[in-house]
Parts: sequence; structure tokens; C-alpha cells
Amino acid sequence: MSTSLPPHNGQRTAGSCTLVGAGPGDPELLTLKAVKAIGAASVLFVDDLVNDAVLAYARPDARIVHVGKRGGCKSTPQAFIEKLMIAAAREGEAVVRLKGGDPFIFGRGGEEVEHLRAAGIAVTVVNGITAGLAAVTSLGVPLTHRQHAHGVVFVTGHAQPGSLGPDWRQLAATAHSARLTLVIYMGVSGAGHIQNELLMGLPASTPVAVIQNASLPTQRHITSTLGALADAIQAGGMASPSIIVVGDVMAGVALAASHPEAVRAA
Ligand code: SAH
Repeated sequence: MSTSLPPHNGQRTAGSCTLVGAGPGDPELLTLKAVKAIGAASVLFVDDLVNDAVLAYARPDARIVHVGKRGGCKSTPQAFIEKLMIAAAREGEAVVRLKGGDPFIFGRGGEEVEHLRAAGIAVTVVNGITAGLAAVTSLGVPLTHRQHAHGVVFVTGHAQPGSLGPDWRQLAATAHSARLTLVIYMGVSGAGHIQNELLMGLPASTPVAVIQNASLPTQRHITSTLGALADAIQAGGMASPSIIVVGDVMAGVALAASHPEAVRAA
């Protein structure tokens, strides 16, 4: 899906920008719309978690601006990135903002759209495959297998500065009674706290999986139980970017492991 959003009320358009979901890593998971937008860009502002292989679809003369923190550099402040995008759009450049996964699942896509539109820039948003979806599918597990789950919750494990973050106890109680799968983004560094809080409402035996670098050749995963989550992360040396999945659907991973050829995702 993609959507076009005009500038806020009464403003004349002062350029345009396309926010493109680059997917979880594997370039073959890009949408056709994403490939088209990347190929039409004269300047691309590229986020941290975007696989460089995706840039093969950019024009050879396109300007590529990395605004992430890979390679040990500090990430570019959000306000400065937005300033650069607005300036480029006003100069008439074909601006693409490439974001990992889906632009509107975490990653501050919503804020960028608001600020661009407030500056008179028309914005188009192109969906990408979000990491949580790709990570779980890569293990051959359906997020909402009807025998195990009625639904799924995408939740951040990283609280915004000044906020308490998700109410994990409430979430655990709801996930338990409503049979929901929890897909936790940015949760590895806070896994100990998340585990302790979730144990207030979910059994220690609840299956969990942690998937790092989903869809990339470097993908790896561990499986465990909620009661042993933090220890398993440490023992497995799991690090960011990883997705933590909590719920009975993960009980199926054992099956997937014994029949990998039958359940392999693309
Ligand atoms: N917009 C992105 C999420 C940005 S938040 C999306 O839709 O996927 C960044 C978090 O996403 C990471 O901390 C990690 O939890 C997750 N993530 C992104 N890419 C990943 C990948 N290839 N494998 C596992 N987790 C990933």
C-alpha cells in the first residue's frame, strides 16, 4: 500500500518526499513501488538498518546520505535529518527517505511525515515488510496460527526518554487471556526487565524466540521459554537488531526445525 499526503491546510506545495519502507534486509523483499521510488530518487536519506544492497536500485548519479549510526558514528539528530529533507525537497530534488522495515512501524516515520507536511512538503508513504513479520515467518511460524493465537501485538521494548514505556504486566495479562502473540522490537537490552514484568501475567513456560538480522545471510535465532529469556539471550550472544517473540505460536518452531525444507520462508 502507499498513500499520498498533501501539505497541511492551505499551504502551497513546496516540494515532495517519499518515505519508503526498505524491508528487513533482503532486497528481494522490497515492494515494486519501493524499487520504483528508489530508482526515481535524486537524493536518498538512508536510515541505520537499511541494507546497502537495496541501494543497487538507486540511480548511479543519485546522492546517498547515510543518517544512521552504523560503523560507530553517532546517529544524525532527527531534527537535522528533517531539515536536510525539507531543504532538498524545496530545491526540487526527488527526495526518498529510506527506512528499515515499514516506515510507520516504530522508527519515527509518523513524526517525519507531520514535520514535512507542516513545512509544506507533500509526502508519499510506501509500505515495507516490517521486521517482526519477516523474523517470525523466517522460522516457518504463522504469527496468528488459529490454534495458538487470536491476534498479534507489535510493541516496543525501548521506552521513549521521559516515558515509562509499555505496561508489561497489563500486556501480559491481556496476551494471556486474549491469546495474543507479542512481537517485541528493540527489546534485547531491556530483556531482563521485560521478562520479569511479563512473568506477572504469563506462565514461565511460554515459548519465546529471539531472531537477529532477520532475512539477511547473517540471520540467527534462539528459542527458549519466558522464564529463561534473558539468560538465553546472554548465552546465545544475541544483539540488536533482534525481534523477541513471546507466545504459544512459537511452540511450532520445534516442528519447523525438524522440517526446515517444508517451512522455509522465501
Ligand atoms: N521500522 C522498522 C522498525 C524500526 S525499530 C520495521 O518496521 O521493521 C528498530 C528495531 O527493529 C530493531 O531494534 C529490531 O528490534 C527491529 N529490526 C529491524 N530490522 C531487523 C532485522 N533485520 N532483524 C531483526 N530485527 C530487526
